[in-house]
Amino acid sequence: MKKIVAILIIALMLLPFLFSEKKIAQASNIQKENSDIPEKDGVYDVPGHSNLKVRVFVHNPKPTPTDQPSLVCNLSDPDSNAVVAPTGWHLPSGNWTYKLNIGSTPSSIGSNLVNIADSAFATWSSSSVGAKVAFVNGGTTGISRKGFDRNNIIAWGRTSGSALAVTYTWYYPSTGLVAEVDTIMNKKYQWSWTAYSADACVNSNTYDAQDILTHELGHWIGLNDEYTSSYVNSTMYGYGSKGEIKKDTLTTGDSAGVSAIY
Ligand SMILES: [Zn+2]
Repeated sequence: MKKIVAILIIALMLLPFLFSEKKIAQASNIQKENSDIPEKDGVYDVPGHSNLKVRVFVHNPKPTPTDQPSLVCNLSDPDSNAVVAPTGWHLPSGNWTYKLNIGSTPSSIGSNLVNIADSAFATWSSSSVGAKVAFVNGGTTGISRKGFDRNNIIAWGRTSGSALAVTYTWYYPSTGLVAEVDTIMNKKYQWSWTAYSADACVNSNTYDAQDILTHELGHWIGLNDEYTSSYVNSTMYGYGSKGEIKKDTLTTGDSAGVSAIY
């Protein structure tokens, strides 16, 4: 009897360790899952979630011949009728909550990220997705790495290549519903923010955070990148440029792309 009691006591004492080991194992699995996602355009399996896929969009800078910092004013914002193609997924109807990593932003952005994200989501809400999905600011987060953790984050972080930003969308291929989206803006570039107006002046040596983020959010709602010349003025044009703010507004073809999904 004493032996049984002793074994029971030892087993009880070991229980918390067993659980914490399980937790550590789970955490390292999550880490492994995330490090397994290449930072390269493509669709990838999600280890441990056979019903999910993750799509990676890498937004690269458009190669520019010269690099002369100066202020550029009265930028043109031509329209385009070229309809943007769908990715195949859509956000579920109702509230879609996102979290902002204010602490990760460069000092030129800081807490302006709240207004930047608000403006970028509002741009898309003006299209047909606005009638189905309400984008809700769920507050700040300390998470600055992509990962399937049920948090839809916008953060600045290190991206391995030359990407301006990388968006990861986890979705269910069987239903087309999005499970989670993360956007990581690349810390290594210089960022600024100019609220959109027809006669705005922007710094030609920095990337505009609202401009690039609005493009990334197009992936959240299910729009693809476009690279051909008829799309150079579209929000979903696949390259970003310094001093650009025209992606802050949708072209007729961007909106038509959304209407085909929602
Ligand atoms: Zn893109």
